[in-house]
Amino acid sequence: MSSISASSLASALLRQEVLDLHAYHVPDSSGYIKLDAMENPYLVPLALRGEIAEAVAVAAINRYPDPGAVSLKEKIRGVTGLPQGMEVLLGNGSDELIQLLAMAVNKPGAVLLSVEPSFVMYKMIATYTGMRYVGVPLAADFSLDLPATLAAIRREQPALVFLAYPNNPTGNLFSADTVAQIIAASPGLVVVDEAYYAFASDSFVPYLARYPNLLVMRTFSKLGMAGLRLGFLAGSAALLGQLEKLRLPYNVGVLPQLVAEKLLAHHEVLLQQAEQIKRDRAKLYQQLSEIAAVKVYTSEANFLLFRVANATAIFNGLKQRGVLIKNLSGGHPMLKDCLRVTVGTPDENERFMLALQESLHNG
Ligand SMILES: *Cc1c(COP(=O)(O)O)cnc(C)c1O
Repeated sequence: MSSISASSLASALLRQEVLDLHAYHVPDSSGYIKLDAMENPYLVPLALRGEIAEAVAVAAINRYPDPGAVSLKEKIRGVTGLPQGMEVLLGNGSDELIQLLAMAVNKPGAVLLSVEPSFVMYKMIATYTGMRYVGVPLAADFSLDLPATLAAIRREQPALVFLAYPNNPTGNLFSADTVAQIIAASPGLVVVDEAYYAFASDSFVPYLARYPNLLVMRTFSKLGMAGLRLGFLAGSAALLGQLEKLRLPYNVGVLPQLVAEKLLAHHEVLLQQAEQIKRDRAKLYQQLSEIAAVKVYTSEANFLLFRVANATAIFNGLKQRGVLIKNLSGGHPMLKDCLRVTVGTPDENERFMLALQESLHNG
């Protein structure tokens, strides 16, 4: 053993899927105006911060967290408007729930199906849990290609389907009727991922009772709690009761439970911030659509997708001017020369627009 180098040891011991994986890259953002990760730019209001500080000061961090997270789940049921008979399963962020679902359905040969371009973690988690991944291309305008999706479902019989509603990174909300047809045609579980629910005009929560194979997944990350790591699945008690067995007993710590509870008791404060972000999204959309060299796409999320002649040049130009956004070029072919900007504060958006104008003119 001692003669083998550490890297050849890793190659010898680890699964090929793991060795082949490209790590989810998170760039160093220190010093930048950070508009790359769909975070809420606003801090918690001062009065509420005081209340949280007091609760944290007396929190029993010497004890394991409440494994059932009873009072947090009660708050979540309330703010979500969960239909009767539906249950909640908590995750350490919703990424953890994607992984839990993949583990739960992963019989030999099982397929995870999603659309492309969409959230990259669906494919990544399918790969490292050993599921077979099938990605159905969206139409050119990023709407669902219903005939192609239904054909893929008939052919592949996926155990698990993910549809982000609104979609990331395109920002659009798929037609609800089309999503409903996909749920009805699917032999396996369909997860409608509502990470951006606070910024969108529609939700599948009211349809949970109608479709027994439907799960709605949400996260509080995009609503001002990215640092807490809290997501949840909503669905039938029969389904979630089984999935609950795969949840690691203490996956949501004492402090995230406590802080999220306090914040959700003031859900309206967060929703007001989301309303502000929606107004600023409209303004930013308008400004981008007035630039001839930019094609901006409509969005029901807290970010905007836009296309330029040379995304990497503009991305670098923005970065040189202190603004960090996401360069999607080089990923999916349909995203060639696309960039994604998170809606920030009005001041951040203005500085982004200035830096963009300069980058377009001077490189
Ligand atoms: C951000 C995002 C998530 C993951 O959120 P967590 O921070 O892990 O809760 C899930 N789905 C989509 C579509 C997202 O954009």
